Amino acid sequence: MTVEQHPRQTGKVYLVGAGPGDAGLITVKGMRCLQEADVIVYDRLAGPRLLQFKKAGARKIYVGKLPDRHAMKQEDINQLLVDLALEGYTVTRLKGGDPCVFGRVGEEAALLRSHGISFEIVPGVTSAVAVPAYAGIPVTHRDWASSFCVVTGHENPNKLDELIEWDKLTLAAGTLLFLMGVAKLRYITDQLLRYGRSPDTPVALVRWGTRAEQATIVGTLATIADEVERAGFKAPAVIIVGDVVREREQLQWAEVRPLFGRRILVTRARSQASELVRRIEDLGGEPYEFPVIETRLPETEAQRQALRRAMAEADSYDWLVLTSVNGVHYWFKHLQEQQADIRQWARTRIVSVGPKTTEALQGYGIQPDVAAAQYSQEGIWEALKPLVHPGQRVLLARGDLSRSWLKETLQEEGLHVDEVDLYVTVLPEQDDPDLLEMLEEKSIHIITFTSSSTVTNLLAALRYMGVQDPVARLNHALVACIGEMTARTAREAGLRVDTVAEYSTIDGLVEAICALEPTAVQGGC
Ligand code: SAH
Repeated sequence: MTVEQHPRQTGKVYLVGAGPGDAGLITVKGMRCLQEADVIVYDRLAGPRLLQFKKAGARKIYVGKLPDRHAMKQEDINQLLVDLALEGYTVTRLKGGDPCVFGRVGEEAALLRSHGISFEIVPGVTSAVAVPAYAGIPVTHRDWASSFCVVTGHENPNKLDELIEWDKLTLAAGTLLFLMGVAKLRYITDQLLRYGRSPDTPVALVRWGTRAEQATIVGTLATIADEVERAGFKAPAVIIVGDVVREREQLQWAEVRPLFGRRILVTRARSQASELVRRIEDLGGEPYEFPVIETRLPETEAQRQALRRAMAEADSYDWLVLTSVNGVHYWFKHLQEQQADIRQWARTRIVSVGPKTTEALQGYGIQPDVAAAQYSQEGIWEALKPLVHPGQRVLLARGDLSRSWLKETLQEEGLHVDEVDLYVTVLPEQDDPDLLEMLEEKSIHIITFTSSSTVTNLLAALRYMGVQDPVARLNHALVACIGEMTARTAREAGLRVDTVAEYSTIDGLVEAICALEPTAVQGGC
């Protein structure tokens, strides 16, 4: 019997602009392409943070140029896209900025077309406009410039004169923007002076704009080449020539935000990280998510049985203690799974720990009877002490890693205590070479720990990725902990703790991070 061979259907290629680096600057459509691709082909200008949005199991292929070598020739990249599509994959080719602005998208698209492979071009926010904007420089302005022109400074110096008619270009537009021009800056400024621009014309260079490494240098056509040389200012940068540069003095905004220049590692579970990520972004920092915790429904039969029993005996409990937002959500998941009704808990008094837990309960229409302000077990006891009586029954419903101190204290006071694990905490298996590279380059400036298990799991995750001495690898960065317990775990593991939140909340943690001395951030600001 012969098996009929179905040829695999040819895949499709999306040529997507990633924007200049700030992950928020990709388009909605670009993000969808990123999330749906089987393979992502990317280079250095498309920031690593975006790759975190790829779907589970999608492949990443780095084809970018490194300063000291060419990672892959353009022809080979073109061919790679063709090969991947012919194998049936949906491919997203992620390019820095806009793919059509010096992005060589034409060559990639042409080869795809010649093989009959369908493609889409998804425009992006070009660095030519966005990078000046992040330095407080609008490329046009009513008073200064009614046109702008984007020019390649080209990496190959010999080609510059073939590509550019300097006599025409110099006065052609109000604002001139050069990409790939740092190495040829002196030549560019000489040509502009020679063909009629005033030596006083303001010039700015913005390097790694929209990212934590953003740096700006300002001068004039007459001075900038010397200043750049003196400062050792390196590519990649956008060169902005024209009066619009004057606006920076009053419009500077990105670089004066409290967390500007800080790349901050967020280790908490992805499902819980969004608030912290958002706060960091709002304050101008660059979050990098590496979740070292994942919560799941309890896995053992004993755990499940304990939960079933607790639900069945609902009306016998005087107190139900819920200790976290996660706990609240899992609690209702269990109710739903066992088709239980919250009204079975009507006579039980509910204790919540911390304002966020209370908020989560209120989201389900429940006003806790007792809201302990402190996240610690000692805090719960303080709140409960005046209310409980010997002989009462308490259900402590929590994650699988909680300490047993509270249970023991309640038992010593003559109460009957049952504990159930609402969820279990696991270390997700993951490989993140980009993170390892950033740690090696010391370009993670602050590490946040939001529980003891984030500490232990981050060290375990690094070991799993082959780092022999994870503590040494992390010690260049500042360490911020959400509370004393977490800080103790970090110190015991050998880490230096630089700040501990006064209040054990995300707001408290963010406040503590903002108070860190900018100068303490190595390589940051
Ligand atoms: N397609 C890209 C440009 C590619 S050419 C775009 O639309 O932005 C590469 C050049 O872009 C770099 O040499 C540099 O001049 C500029 N560039 C890209 N991203 C940048 C960034 N984040 N900061 C400064 N310059 C950047």
